[in-house]
Amino acid sequence: MAPSAITPPHTHAVQQASELTAAAVAKKLAETASSVARKPNGVEPTLAPLDASKLIFTKTTTPMTVPELGSPIIATASQCSDHMVTAVWKATTGWEAPELRPYGNLSLAPTASCLHYATECFEGMKMYRGYDGKLRLFRPDCNAKRMLMSATRISLPGFDPEELEKLMLAIVAVDGPKWLPKSRAGECLYLRPSMIGSAGALGVAAPKEATLFIIATFMPKLEQPKGLRLLASTEGIRAWPGGFGFAKVGANYGPTLMATKTAAERGYHQVLWLLDGQVTEAGASNLLVVWKTREGQLQLVTAPLDDKIILDGVTRRSVLQLAHERLANGSTGLEPIEIVERKYTMEEVADAVKEGRMVEAFACGTAFFVAPVCAIGYRETDLDIPMKRGDSGEYAHAIKTWLIDIMYGREQHGWGVIVEEKEEL
Ligand SMILES: *Cc1c(COP(=O)(O)O)cnc(C)c1O
Repeated sequence: MAPSAITPPHTHAVQQASELTAAAVAKKLAETASSVARKPNGVEPTLAPLDASKLIFTKTTTPMTVPELGSPIIATASQCSDHMVTAVWKATTGWEAPELRPYGNLSLAPTASCLHYATECFEGMKMYRGYDGKLRLFRPDCNAKRMLMSATRISLPGFDPEELEKLMLAIVAVDGPKWLPKSRAGECLYLRPSMIGSAGALGVAAPKEATLFIIATFMPKLEQPKGLRLLASTEGIRAWPGGFGFAKVGANYGPTLMATKTAAERGYHQVLWLLDGQVTEAGASNLLVVWKTREGQLQLVTAPLDDKIILDGVTRRSVLQLAHERLANGSTGLEPIEIVERKYTMEEVADAVKEGRMVEAFACGTAFFVAPVCAIGYRETDLDIPMKRGDSGEYAHAIKTWLIDIMYGREQHGWGVIVEEKEEL
């Protein structure tokens, strides 16, 4: 796997085929934040790296009111917490000191690169208030590394992912105690690290200035109690080989909204994106199916990352890892299952349903979490997907329970990173 792994300094290599080559990311670091890149020729760096230890904190003087759970503002996904992190990068000097400052509007020139050429990338993650009172992030190192990969793909500057992770922890430490208080155990807030090309210049070129920001918001719960209804898209495609479907860049989402609206009008929750009949992913979540092969082998199947057309979801990665550890050998009471990452087509899914071999299907991602699928609309008919437990299949239920236990501190696990909270600001 080595040729495709990101190897930023001070961090472990990530064994993920969908990431850009180590060479591309190293080159990006050398060009844009050189003192974090390796210096093969010993030349001293001239561009300042992103450095979380330089964080400047300005406390808000107009604190906002935290909405009640169930308040209508939550459904709008617009209520942010009191503070945000910002950091500006300039092509001539590198990264300026990051700031943790009152939440507020950004100021951009109408000629700003992101407004015209979609030089933007983002991450989506959550902070979880544990049943043990602790506040956690789930595998924030994975999000930070993915953001470096996305930034590289969209010609935004590089940074040491460990520094981004420290900035994520900083805003959670400051706003977590008030916005996700101990009385809200089992609840979460959404964290949105983003980067935009903020240079005001209309030339079609890599921006000479970029702004990184991290905000925390309320998000409505997206899981569907009766199961997710997906509409297989037989017209539009989301991503293609040689494109950028593997990167979390804004350019992947705006163009899909038309299809999502059409699906909603027809009574579906999300679009299931196909490429030449192959199943890729569902909306902004990865899809897994459990079926029996014609030979009777029980399998958990999901699309592979090799072609770089789907997003390398942190949830997907975690589901597969847990499945390998806990489901492959049958130690948990469920029938042992073979875990397969391979290309598969909508026709194979339709055949499995028609022949009674489909066991269950579920989408997974930070926003939808683990969402059992009850139906897939395909060629004018609905394929009914079994949900053995009524509200879920058995495998999705087991995996979801394990993940909840890790996220909310019922199981102490390395993936749940505890945040030291700043109670007194
Ligand atoms: C964010 C996203 C996912 C899920 O990724 P997670 O890291 O699990 O949240 C899957 N597909 C797409 C297209 C996405 O944007």
